[in-house]
Amino acid sequence: MLALKLPLAAGTPGAVLEIRGPRSYVSAFFSRLPAIRVEWLAILASLFFSLSCNYLFFAAALANRDWSSPSSWLFGAGLFVSITALQAIGLLVLLNRWTSKPLLTVLFLVTAAATYYMNKYTVFFNTEMVRNILRTDVKEASELFSFNFCVHMLVFGILPSVLVWKLRLRTTPLRRAIPIRLLYIVGAIVVAAGSTMLIFQDFSSLMRNQKEVRFLITPSNYLFSLSRVVAADTAQANTPRIKISDDAKLAAGWGGRTKPMLFVLVVGETTRAANWGLNGYEHQTTPQLSKLDVVNFPHATSCGTNTEVSVPCMFSIYGRHDYDEAKIRGHESLLHIIDKVGINTVWRDNQSGCKGVCDGLEEQMLGASKDPKLCDGERCLDEIMLENMDGVIQKAKNGNLFVVMHQLGNHGPAYYRRYPAAMRTFTPTCDTSDLSKCTREQITNSYDNGVLYTDHFLAKTIAFLKTQSDSYDTAMLYLSDHGESLGERGIYLHGLPYSIAPKEQTEVPMVMWMSSGFASSFGVNKDCMQRRAGNAVSQDNLFHSILGMLQIESKYYDKALDMTAGCRI
Ligand SMILES: [Zn+2]
Repeated sequence: MLALKLPLAAGTPGAVLEIRGPRSYVSAFFSRLPAIRVEWLAILASLFFSLSCNYLFFAAALANRDWSSPSSWLFGAGLFVSITALQAIGLLVLLNRWTSKPLLTVLFLVTAAATYYMNKYTVFFNTEMVRNILRTDVKEASELFSFNFCVHMLVFGILPSVLVWKLRLRTTPLRRAIPIRLLYIVGAIVVAAGSTMLIFQDFSSLMRNQKEVRFLITPSNYLFSLSRVVAADTAQANTPRIKISDDAKLAAGWGGRTKPMLFVLVVGETTRAANWGLNGYEHQTTPQLSKLDVVNFPHATSCGTNTEVSVPCMFSIYGRHDYDEAKIRGHESLLHIIDKVGINTVWRDNQSGCKGVCDGLEEQMLGASKDPKLCDGERCLDEIMLENMDGVIQKAKNGNLFVVMHQLGNHGPAYYRRYPAAMRTFTPTCDTSDLSKCTREQITNSYDNGVLYTDHFLAKTIAFLKTQSDSYDTAMLYLSDHGESLGERGIYLHGLPYSIAPKEQTEVPMVMWMSSGFASSFGVNKDCMQRRAGNAVSQDNLFHSILGMLQIESKYYDKALDMTAGCRI
């Protein structure tokens, strides 16, 4: 407050004129408000979440209803009351005079960030998505920031937080506070139960037919998923991986082999089958591979729609057909079997790590390299994984080597940063990570230039393996971890629950290359593979096909899932 004393005629008392700044009006406004009960704060916060954070949930739950029928209005209202009451129960349990302000601030800020990405990219906060976010590195997260994000955070995160800190909380002695709180909780339970009963038939059919929509109820979705991830990770951290490698051994065929083996498995990132040149896409995104003697599998599908699911799954004995996240994370992987039989394994990574697949084995994180040709100080192009391969080969004890290269690939939304300037072939491009500023054509062009770079990287990997083919039986298998939505039906990026994921997120490219030495030494008939490549395959085939092709015996090997089984001599 600024006070100005005006000089008046001599002898008269000075008059004080108050000129108030906006801050003082705000303070005055809040000081006049009566102190609020924590219980009412919980109810108001829950109303705020229902009104401002659940647009996607209500849109999905109320889609295709007949609005001329009163039952639709009843269902909408019942759903709103029920969700608000349920979230209020949670807040009534957690909030008290000490926790209210800090806890609500965290909830407002995290929920604002969550709803921004939910609305922008149709994100469902199930456990897979929460796990994916928790494992996201700072570089990946920083690519998602934009001006619009900051405005959204200000309106839905910072402003409500400031408001809460300005409020005065009414305090009650503990003796009286406990029964009052219990009364409010019972009241909220009655309201939640009553409103749910009123719409029970519609509600149960919604949960039966579209059960994934519950992962749109915010902030319950991420809080529930987060608690499940923390519980699962804590349980897993205290249990060693269950061995599956004990009985594994090299088959007799290895006895007569004259050269050691060098196998490169490239785990791709976010490249989808629909934009793969070899699959007949309108843009030629695989000009280099198309000139090479490769086997292309046009009908391959992924295990999950994000890295956290797909990578552990494709290396596991369970796969999508028997999917169990806890079992997959609790058991050894294909790499442990390969290592056990005496083939050196190395995981070379230009992304976010091996997701437990290479626990206890050699993992080289190359994404923070300083090579000025390939790195910009933040990230590196995938060719960094081909640097110093001679050193990796020389270190392999008995010469046999299985290398996994985990690409950065087409990781979005900053597609324009996934290829060197020389590969800006399809134009105009989208040169920002804020996809809402670009047309679909621009987004697709940038994405396709990223695919071109993967084509270049794979061709260069094959060229490298050819230089080694005098001394080694060499082969390469490429398989992307999941696909990507590029705006089809308004959906972007990836990570939708598998049951409702569009095919753009689950159909992935897969390519195999073998030197003639590898093909004859391991008895794989390339022409036969080529003839059968049109069959449907999936990441579930990886575990068994690698064991079969590399002639590794294991009780976990399933011939029915080995896509090379019918093509081996
Ligand atoms: Zn991925």
